Amino acid sequence: MDFLSDRIKSMAASATLAMTQKSRELKNRGFDVISLSIGEPDFNTPDYVKEAAKRAIDDNFSKYPPVSGYEDLRAAVCAKFKRENGLDYTPDQVVVSVGGKHSVINVIMVTVNPGDEVIILAPYWVSYYDQVKLAGGVPVIVNTTLENDFKVTPTDLEAAITPKTKLIIFNSPSNPTGMVYTREEMEGIARVVGKNPHVLILSDEVYEHIVYEGEHVSMASFDFIYDRTITLNAVSKSYAMTGWRIGYIGAPVWLAKAVNKLQGQFTSGTCTIAQKAACAAMSYDDGSRDKMREAFKRRRDLICGLLAEVEGVKIRIPQGAFYVLPDISFYLGKSDGEKVINSADDLAFFLLDRARVATVGGDAFGASNCIRISYATSDDHLIEAVKRIKESLKLLK
Ligand code: PLP
Repeated sequence: MDFLSDRIKSMAASATLAMTQKSRELKNRGFDVISLSIGEPDFNTPDYVKEAAKRAIDDNFSKYPPVSGYEDLRAAVCAKFKRENGLDYTPDQVVVSVGGKHSVINVIMVTVNPGDEVIILAPYWVSYYDQVKLAGGVPVIVNTTLENDFKVTPTDLEAAITPKTKLIIFNSPSNPTGMVYTREEMEGIARVVGKNPHVLILSDEVYEHIVYEGEHVSMASFDFIYDRTITLNAVSKSYAMTGWRIGYIGAPVWLAKAVNKLQGQFTSGTCTIAQKAACAAMSYDDGSRDKMREAFKRRRDLICGLLAEVEGVKIRIPQGAFYVLPDISFYLGKSDGEKVINSADDLAFFLLDRARVATVGGDAFGASNCIRISYATSDDHLIEAVKRIKESLKLLK
């Protein structure tokens, strides 16, 4: 008897988590695996944040919180939106959730009806696609190219919009490409949204503090689409708090209310201790964010320099986040004498087996010619990893 729902059976498991799991298993078996697959800072949560969490425990923040988040946290989110993004939100427009991933599914669940189309720009973050499908929505993929810096043009975006389009999911700085849209490029996209009053745009800004060149621009800052924009963020990447699981949105009141209703049936709100920690994180700057960004930038320069010397690998220099997405199509169809590399996923597994380096194949990101490398790890690891990758790729003829 098969008790599982079609819903869960048709869902793909997270490719990044699957690779992380596989490399963990190999490590546990004693293999020297370098992991470049996981999307999280390798730093610890700053001390002032940890102190706030300890205080919250001692102060007995142990009862159910308000479903949409504590008042002080939502006020801190509004202050952050104003200070850092120039956006006006009031606390009733803010909902705190169990990480940015949960905030994304919340928005999809309250807006997308079965059959509604959701535009996703490829290469995309793995979860968008399956979350849209879970809601019964139809993912409509708009492809971009390495030659175009993996950025969508307003013309291509507009061509994908139909009367059934409900939502566009936009992400800058991008996971997996590391690209950061300029203000002009974003305005082009905002204008397309502006022309289509039946379309909402979800702007996923979780990497906003990890920008090396240029500036981070919030989609909601284009005031002509403010009412149809959902600004999504999290403390995970900015404050090295991936495990605390705090994400949030700023949205029109009607949408925030709907998400509140959904969470009322799903979670009864977010962990109280983590909320107090997130509130502290956002309300004070001890310089950790800048230090982390500087470290990521140095590693970006290091790994891009090293990858540029690997035969057949093409890259675009990322301006943000901590990923690089090399095009490895040169190796597709080649073989080490045992196995033919038919896809980017095959190459990622080949690199895990031969080089003991964990990357993620681009197929799950809608980037079938690429592999994703996370450089949120030490310089030594990066140097050794690219050395091993280079050696292993030489085996492919
Ligand atoms: N959005 C993007 C683009 C991400 O890369 C991630 C995490 O990898 C998230 C959202 C989710 O972040 P969180 O860990 O807060 O759920």
